[in-house]
Amino acid sequence: MSKTLDLAKELISLKSVTPNDAGCQEIVAKRLKQFGFNIENLNFGDVKNLWAILGDSGPIFAFLGHTDVVPPGPIDQWESDPFCPTEKNELLVGRGSADMKGSVAAFVTSIEEYLSSKPNISGRLAVLLTSDEEGPAVDGVAKVIDYLEKKGEKIEWCLVGEPTSNQQVGDVYKIGRRGSVSAKIIVHGSQGHVAYPDRAINPIHEFSGALDELSKLTWKDKTGNFQDSVLQISNINSGTGATNVIPGTLTLHLNVRHSPSTTSDEIKNDIQSVLDKHKINFEILWEIGGLPFLTEKKELTNAVELSIKEVIGINSISSTDGGTSDGRFVAPTGAQVVELGPGNASIHKINESVRIKDLENLHKIYVSILAKLLNA
Ligand SMILES: [Zn+2]
Repeated sequence: MSKTLDLAKELISLKSVTPNDAGCQEIVAKRLKQFGFNIENLNFGDVKNLWAILGDSGPIFAFLGHTDVVPPGPIDQWESDPFCPTEKNELLVGRGSADMKGSVAAFVTSIEEYLSSKPNISGRLAVLLTSDEEGPAVDGVAKVIDYLEKKGEKIEWCLVGEPTSNQQVGDVYKIGRRGSVSAKIIVHGSQGHVAYPDRAINPIHEFSGALDELSKLTWKDKTGNFQDSVLQISNINSGTGATNVIPGTLTLHLNVRHSPSTTSDEIKNDIQSVLDKHKINFEILWEIGGLPFLTEKKELTNAVELSIKEVIGINSISSTDGGTSDGRFVAPTGAQVVELGPGNASIHKINESVRIKDLENLHKIYVSILAKLLNA
């Protein structure tokens, strides 16, 4: 029986709904300790983080992952208990099987295999795990990176095990993510009777010109690796419910997912100037969800692409789409960051599963990447 499958099952059986770790990190720490890793438990509030490192000097390669999972949803809709790992038609079913306890298991077994055959490494090998990736992510990787920066430590190469693949493991890996800028805009008018519009200010009418212009805002991607950035309005609300009343306010939510070619400040300025131009009486509340990043094609991407080619026999596609990940906290330190994990078709869903073969192949790819970057 496969060691990666066994460990994935052991981790899935622990109910680590975010921000709970439920003992997952202890299992990983115990196994890494046997290979001489130095273990630090960096806990902030309810969140558990593990920083395990082997070696004294040289560039750090780190596996980055999370032990928390999203809630299972209605249990009666699952074909098997979400926390009882179940093999079914070449799949391993259970909450976290794909996102991302399968990858965490492959981190551990690939390190074990690599170190068993090659005990002298050049550089350092680390594992960083958090129990708060699926939650607010405030006390997780962001805090660990702060801690490492204060110690003067910096990750050179970071491999995030998030599920990135489509048809088979390794067909897609990620080299960057878009940033996210959100805003809530409140437009102030003056409430009144629809029959007496001269005694009221209709915020819907006041906003209509700006709405049209905002919805057409785009920012060009100049890296060649991202889509152009566009603005999306997700909510718009006004009206008192009565049909004979001009409302007093209008509230709107918008979001821009943007490439590294545009800063969040540029986006803020462009939105602000549309509103100013239309002489709207408004308030705006900004939220920066995450900064964009793009990893240059260098040692880490080379090692990843070559390993996938060797193990699976395919040319992997590097992508920058999808939501955000904890890689966003590591990339600003100057680290090369990639994401490579199993198929993502079932993540966060009922009956989440991972192909058992993917786990085995992921293990092999990870072993190969370690050899390419760390062989003395
Ligand atoms: Zn995840």
